[in-house]
Amino acid sequence: MKTILLALTLALGPMGSHAQSQPTHLIPAPAEYSVRSGTVSPDAMASLHEKVLISEKALLRRLDGRQLTPWQLKSAYWLTLGRRSLKIVAADEEGLFYARQTIKMMASLDSAVSCCTILDWPRFPYRGLMLDESRHFQGKDFVKKQLEMMARLKMNRFHFHLVDNPGWRLQIDAYPRLTRLTAWRPQAFFWDWEQNEIGGPFVDEGTPGAYGGYYTKQDIADILAFAEARHIEVIPEIEMPGHNYETRAAYPSLACSLPGGGKDPWELCPGKETTYQFLETVLLEVFDMFPSRYIHIGGDEARKNNWALCPDCQARMKAEGLPSVAALQSYMIRRIARFAHAHGKRIIGWDEILQGGLAPDATVMSWHGTEGGLQAVREGHDVIFTPTRYCYLDYHQDPAQFRAVGRHLPLSKVYSFDPVDADIPPSSAHHVLGLQGNLWTEHVQDAWHAEMMLYPRVFAIAETGWSPAEKKNWPDFERRASAMSNVAREWGYTVYPPLQKH
Ligand SMILES: [Zn+2]
Repeated sequence: MKTILLALTLALGPMGSHAQSQPTHLIPAPAEYSVRSGTVSPDAMASLHEKVLISEKALLRRLDGRQLTPWQLKSAYWLTLGRRSLKIVAADEEGLFYARQTIKMMASLDSAVSCCTILDWPRFPYRGLMLDESRHFQGKDFVKKQLEMMARLKMNRFHFHLVDNPGWRLQIDAYPRLTRLTAWRPQAFFWDWEQNEIGGPFVDEGTPGAYGGYYTKQDIADILAFAEARHIEVIPEIEMPGHNYETRAAYPSLACSLPGGGKDPWELCPGKETTYQFLETVLLEVFDMFPSRYIHIGGDEARKNNWALCPDCQARMKAEGLPSVAALQSYMIRRIARFAHAHGKRIIGWDEILQGGLAPDATVMSWHGTEGGLQAVREGHDVIFTPTRYCYLDYHQDPAQFRAVGRHLPLSKVYSFDPVDADIPPSSAHHVLGLQGNLWTEHVQDAWHAEMMLYPRVFAIAETGWSPAEKKNWPDFERRASAMSNVAREWGYTVYPPLQKH
């Protein structure tokens, strides 16, 4: 009988009510760990005698010949947890921060934590999450809440999709109509506003019942301070030349010199010099706000039909010897890349920036599957993988669940993705910066819905970004994700499947 009870207890493991937290419960799974005898009580956990050493030399001794790159070393940590004491060794404040996230998560996952030693470092430098705040606007508190979860999951890049057809969400002093007008619309729900891919009207700020909002420069400074304290880099996106319906509504002269600006309602005119003046003025204000070395310039889904008819575009193509409208897009992206470079920035673009030739030192965000990313790696460019099939968190988790864009994307499928596949030669693997989960918000109107789309799938993105490939194990992850989901709910997040009705 005793044997049976013991077997049952073991089988229940971490899900049991008196489970002990071991490092193996963590998300993301640590690179290496060992469990020692003894446990730390909750009281002791709250008042550990902490000894911290920030020293590269000391960390290298703990690493004992394991080869880490300089950026991995910066994030790496060694910790040992005893019954009453915690020792941490890191080469940098960043590693110390991740060590503390590990301890916090172990303390949250269970009532008693096993004594252990952990040696840990990330697999990829880019462990990202993108939030679309143009289609529906959530605001500062929501963003900070997600940054907090990212930090707990050791994610470090927040891609802020701030501008797009349905709304401009960033204060730009030189162009006040972007926020006085095109941050506001009469309809709250995106699909009530956009019909047949044509956007609806915008209304002046202060109009009764107007839906929308935007970030002031002070809001951005608050968010950046919050992110920086959690070792998260915030990368803003300013879309060009497509997805600019709102920009054209605020400043119609940015469209092509055609009746109504041309048949395609989304594109800027890459022929006119005034378009570049607009973009460069906006970017200078963005560079002043965001310290990131990256600026995401979009580059996706420009149809280019207007450009073949516009006299300004045709004149530009002739003057620059551009054989096609694809080459005209490439001209624009290269020109903006040079401008960014002159201000100490590098561009990231969606994989369409490969069309017509890629700007030097551009980083590609591969979303149409992984082909664009593979091509860019072959050409020696850095790549962030965010293929729709695995990383688009606007796809539904449950066929019966709400309206959603695209197909079924369960947790297991997100977890199955590996950014370094067999087609990437080991000598080029360093060009794979990592991966990112993208939450587009066509159907996602409020915070409850947004979090339900994010979690638990963001846990899988985090683990793929951090943990060694050989540590990935779906049955084990599924068990940990279930425990982590309960903890996230206790922290006040909505996690799929939601426990309460909306
Ligand atoms: Zn034009």
